[in-house]
Amino acid sequence: MRSGSTSQSPAVEIAGLVKRYGDKSAVDGLDLTVAAGSVTAVLGPNGAGKTTTVETCEGYRRADAGSVRVLGLDPATQGAALRPRIGVMLQSGGVYPGARAEEMLRHTAALHARPVDPALLIERLGLESCGRTPYRRLSGGQQQRLALAMAVVGRPELVFLDEPTAGLDPQARRATWDLVRELRADGVTVVLTTHFMDEAEQLADQVVIIDHGRSIAHGTPEELCRGGAENTLRFTGRPGLDLVSLLKALPDGTAAAELTQGSYRIEGAVDPQLLATVTSWCAQHGVMPDRLAVERRTLEDVFLDLTGKELRA
Ligand code: ATP
Repeated sequence: MRSGSTSQSPAVEIAGLVKRYGDKSAVDGLDLTVAAGSVTAVLGPNGAGKTTTVETCEGYRRADAGSVRVLGLDPATQGAALRPRIGVMLQSGGVYPGARAEEMLRHTAALHARPVDPALLIERLGLESCGRTPYRRLSGGQQQRLALAMAVVGRPELVFLDEPTAGLDPQARRATWDLVRELRADGVTVVLTTHFMDEAEQLADQVVIIDHGRSIAHGTPEELCRGGAENTLRFTGRPGLDLVSLLKALPDGTAAAELTQGSYRIEGAVDPQLLATVTSWCAQHGVMPDRLAVERRTLEDVFLDLTGKELRA
């Protein structure tokens, strides 16, 4: 039986975390709670503080202020008790460049009481052909996959995956996603950072968006993307429709535009009622609304709205 945190207590609890490098605050009062057994995706622009936060949870960095509890333990002072219970996939480093892939995985497995069979993981992650290859000669994607295997081989209760699919080909990406889903099905808590919005949408129970070292939004992907006002209804029809008349039939706050000749966009609280009103207006005016589509906000829309569209230094 697993000891420590119960299913009720969060796997990770961060309150008011501050981490400074010189006079720069990489993390600046961050709060984050991760429910046990869930998958949490941490998103944020480059330099937002994701890796620093994750590495503080892993015990690799010391907080300057705030509190961090991982499986109920303080990673800064209870690392020895915590390490056997967590799996860590770093963005880079932490391995001997001359060691062979399979040897490294077997060595990591041997440090744990009930490891997964390394051969099984090697097969699952498509690393059969490079088991005897020294780490430094593995391709970037193979190194990533090996790092993932090393993070999970010890059957951890909680895994931190820092950009697990960066640089992976589509097949390896799918294999990684499948593995994360299996971990979740086995009750393992997963915290991953990613720049892929579809990855977060596909895998995460909770998405946390970090910017300038703070959490600026969190929720399920659906919660973050919800918000009728941001939905859009598009259709094509006869050019030059009387949009003033159409808008009179629609709730206040709705906007309508003819984008190009005969291509219409309606923005506002797009719900079933609004859709019915638009189609009914079209019927009354002899308009066939072609290619009618309700487009929901994507996580990428939400992310860009919250963090801005300009490049980060
Ligand atoms: P990315 O998406 O690019 O990986 P991130 O969100 O993971 O970014 P961090 O790596 O946590 O961001 O970095 C946050 C800030 O702290 C950045 O401005 C970075 O330059 C700075 N930083 C990180 N590590 C150090 C360090 N060891 N010394 C000094 N500054 C650092």
